[in-house]
Amino acid sequence: MSNMKLRLAIQKSGRLHDDSMRLLKECGIDISNGVNKLKSEASNFPLEVFFLRDDDIPQYVEDAVADIGFVGENVVYEKKKKIDVVEKLGFGKCRLSIAISKGENYTSAAFLQGKRIATSYPVLVEDFLKANNITAEIHEISGSVEIAPGIGLADAICDLVSSGSTLFMNGLQEVEPILQSQAVLVKNEQLSPEQQAILDKLLFRIQSVKKAKNNKYVLLNAPNDKLDEIISLLPGMKSPTVLPLAEAGWSSVHSVLSETQFWDIIEKLKAAGAQGILVVPIEKMII
Ligand code: ATP
Ligand code: MG
Repeated sequence: MSNMKLRLAIQKSGRLHDDSMRLLKECGIDISNGVNKLKSEASNFPLEVFFLRDDDIPQYVEDAVADIGFVGENVVYEKKKKIDVVEKLGFGKCRLSIAISKGENYTSAAFLQGKRIATSYPVLVEDFLKANNITAEIHEISGSVEIAPGIGLADAICDLVSSGSTLFMNGLQEVEPILQSQAVLVKNEQLSPEQQAILDKLLFRIQSVKKAKNNKYVLLNAPNDKLDEIISLLPGMKSPTVLPLAEAGWSSVHSVLSETQFWDIIEKLKAAGAQGILVVPIEKMII
């Protein structure tokens, strides 16, 4: 049997680190994360994990120092490396947005004409300006971008935002999201068939974890004369499971509901006479 391992690059520390480690754990992959370690091997999956600065991950994957990586789309599209984006991972959600001082009035991107914009994302900002036929000065700075307008370095900034509280605390208002971002799995463009086979195994697990997170297992009791109506409300993977209850005239109905339709359907189920509704998280979903 081959002892080849797939090499995965993840963020060493920072906003993506914990969720990256959690996802591997949920995929049943055990990795010891020793403090200050540069790399670590999974004990039960052909995977070696490198811990790196997130900005460096696209380059390492392009150069095949790592085969795959978990990294934010914002970094992937800023670096423009030759790598493939394979799968969205559902964490690290944020947006890259233009922000200006609270007092100013922004009606369109034309506001930025001739202005100075401070950012750590010069490539993405340039793309945005070009697409809007605007000429502006881009000042690349590597951190604390939000203080640039306050110290007179720039008229606007472009930075990552999730809640907006950092902007608010610095007297700024978000006026234009230019990219929605989340963590993605990227891969080297030339994986060997053997490496691709390991990646396919990992992807299958990641997709099962993601599906499980987006779905809930629902159990409810229904009077038999309302069963048809209740069953018609349930999408489920196949038809729902219906079991007779000990109490005559009642049945127990089991099904799977997606997060997006969840509240809507639960309300309709209640209105249709369902009782004792239990909602249970699903750990893995293999379909
Ligand atoms: P490193 O030391 O690895 O270079 P960093 O300081 O560049 O770390 P973090 O602040 O840890 O990076 O952010 C890593 C990634 O987390 C971002 O590139 C982005 O994809 C994602 N992210 C999610 N929400 C936010 C947010 N509110 N602000 C910044 N990044 C966010
Ligand atoms: Mg970084």
